Amino acid sequence: MITIKEALLAAQAMLSDTHEASEAKLEAQLLLQHVLNVNRAWLITHESDALQTNTHAAFESLLNRRLTGEPIAHILGYREFFGFKLKVTPDTLIPRPDTETLVETALSKIPKNTTPAPFQRTSGSSDFQQYQDKMFDSEPRRDDSFDILDLGTGSGAIAIAIAKHAPYVEVTAADASTAALAIAKENAAALQISNVQFLSSNWFSSLKGTRFDIIVSNPPYIEQDDTHLSQGDLRFEPMSALASGADGLDDIRHIITTCIIHLKPQSWLMLEHGYNQAERVADLMANAGLVDIETIHDLGGNDRVTIGKNPLIVSTHWD
Ligand code: GLN
Repeated sequence: MITIKEALLAAQAMLSDTHEASEAKLEAQLLLQHVLNVNRAWLITHESDALQTNTHAAFESLLNRRLTGEPIAHILGYREFFGFKLKVTPDTLIPRPDTETLVETALSKIPKNTTPAPFQRTSGSSDFQQYQDKMFDSEPRRDDSFDILDLGTGSGAIAIAIAKHAPYVEVTAADASTAALAIAKENAAALQISNVQFLSSNWFSSLKGTRFDIIVSNPPYIEQDDTHLSQGDLRFEPMSALASGADGLDDIRHIITTCIIHLKPQSWLMLEHGYNQAERVADLMANAGLVDIETIHDLGGNDRVTIGKNPLIVSTHWD
């Protein structure tokens, strides 16, 4: 029988053809942890244990799937994002670390402790309150809530990360794909997130008359002829979450030109985009009338997120 250490080294060697050494080692460990249902510390401290024949066979089968290019996130069934685990399937984009920049940017614009505590139902509520309770399955929206919209939520990564770190905001997570929404709902439930509501919507199509304090989106933004689409993990992800027209900006253009009627006064649109699209996204935002436009780098130093504000000011009277 082979030991854990020997199995890991053999797997690492095979993965090294297509992976950098550190990545090959990490992926070999992740696959074996998955088969054994153990954490990394256990695996490292049990390196000299023998691997049962059937466990070894199960490990080799996962390794072979990885060697044929299937994303590690699909084999494991999850991906870590912003410090938590998210279920992912071929129905959703696999969350990227780059997108954590978008979450951080949104969190930086949410007022701290100035928003009221989540809605509390009081006993002896008014007739109107009772009427509202009947009308809504869940908690009715407060007029003074801080509302965030995540367009094209996919696995729910962005919406859930924001909701988790700002439990006093109300997040709407929209997607045109019912399969993706089902995964996003599952992720929110598993993480016990209750301040996200899910909506089937093709961008803003189901949101007529609704305004938000922050709209975030990681839309598809890759050029439709980009050769990366036929390489690596991207081959296994939904094309609708990746590519968007000849210059990659079709969906971004649609969101920017439609957003203003969904933004409360002085509120923000925040978009993730390609490393070379910041200038074009900023121009589109300026043409749509947004102000205070700014681009934020991701951890790799690439332009990744551009934000713009609805300049309207709330007026209490008309002159
Ligand atoms: N950032 C992803 C990539 O380049 C693409 C995701 C997207 O289009 N939103 O692989």
